[in-house]
Amino acid sequence: MQDATRIVVNPPVRADGFDSLSVPTYRGSTIVFADAEGYATRGERGHAGFTYGLYGTPTTRALEQKISALEHGAWTFLLPSGQGANAFAMLPFLAPGDRILLADTAYPPVRDFANRDLARFGVAVGYYDPVVPADLERQIDGRTRMVWCESPGSTTMEVQDLPRIAEIAHRHGALVGCDNTWATPLCYKPIDHGADLVTEALTKYFNGHSDLLMGSITVARDDLIAPIRGALGRYGIGVSPDDATLVLRGMETMGLRMQHAARVAQALIGRFQGHEAVDRVLYPALPSSPDHALWKRDFLGASGVFSVVFRPEANAHVEPALNVLETFAIGASWGGTRSLVAPMPVRRNRTARPWTGDDLILRISIGVEAPDDLGADIGRFLDEIAARLGADRARRSA
Ligand SMILES: *Cc1c(COP(=O)(O)O)cnc(C)c1O
Repeated sequence: MQDATRIVVNPPVRADGFDSLSVPTYRGSTIVFADAEGYATRGERGHAGFTYGLYGTPTTRALEQKISALEHGAWTFLLPSGQGANAFAMLPFLAPGDRILLADTAYPPVRDFANRDLARFGVAVGYYDPVVPADLERQIDGRTRMVWCESPGSTTMEVQDLPRIAEIAHRHGALVGCDNTWATPLCYKPIDHGADLVTEALTKYFNGHSDLLMGSITVARDDLIAPIRGALGRYGIGVSPDDATLVLRGMETMGLRMQHAARVAQALIGRFQGHEAVDRVLYPALPSSPDHALWKRDFLGASGVFSVVFRPEANAHVEPALNVLETFAIGASWGGTRSLVAPMPVRRNRTARPWTGDDLILRISIGVEAPDDLGADIGRFLDEIAARLGADRARRSA
């Protein structure tokens, strides 16, 4: 063998005996076959076999299997983002003339995807009140192929009665999909409550370090595997094994991170409640939440993401007051180690159940910093709003 060849061909080093606790990163586009027969029959390897890098490597399989076990599902697909997972949980199952009904509290880019792309493909798009199953019952018809849920809802945190929604959907022959990003399967298992498809933004708590994007679709049954696998292959969608390795590492601490975040969130929520600037806190784990009983019935725990609704007179001061924060960062993609705040508009994203309050909600994600530093930040922030409210009052009475 000449050097020009030797530098190309890798020696067959065996991994026997190297029983590491971490999952190796297998990179590869093409895979090679022992003989021509193996190559000719590669299509018979099925969705679990290896045929091409796009369809997975041993590294991505490890992540898929871990997620399937957590979700109580039959199989999991990995996609380049949580939004990609939502889109491809819908696309393979819808055709012109079909209808999809989405919870009015769905992640806003999902609404955008449905309103623009699904509508362009001839799919009728409708929205139902996420907390009134009778509204779904009223709207669903024989054309409805999918009912989309997100529980709790993006930003406004409404918990859905998934068993009832699934009963209605299945009675009409529709599939039920559920975006489970807020809870992760550690705190909620939608398949156990009737969902056929569950999506996760692995970008958030699973990876947990704000340094990559990934999403997953877990199916409840084997018959849902082929449509998604086929679509992902035709659209050319797969993920990097290096990113999968990072998610595999990040998710090992997801339980600790989420428990910590939920505990600190509850403590900090106490500082908002009762403050003169605050109307209410949206967080289903609060006994005062309108959805608390449903959350308690179906969920196994809470994450560290909650939202704050301010009193109308305080709203104009919220965004300027964010500038006094020292530990919290301002940003949208929650679930990482760093605590985040993000002012969110709501009204433009509601059609079935209009949002009647002011169009500002502050969404807060708790990370893993020292709780005292976070508490001091919240204190500074609320003091700043209170000072501005005081100045308003002084101006009015002058
Ligand atoms: C962030 C988020 C997504 C999208 O995840 P990306 O990986 O950022 O695309 C989907 N659903 C919910 C509920 C989210 O919060």
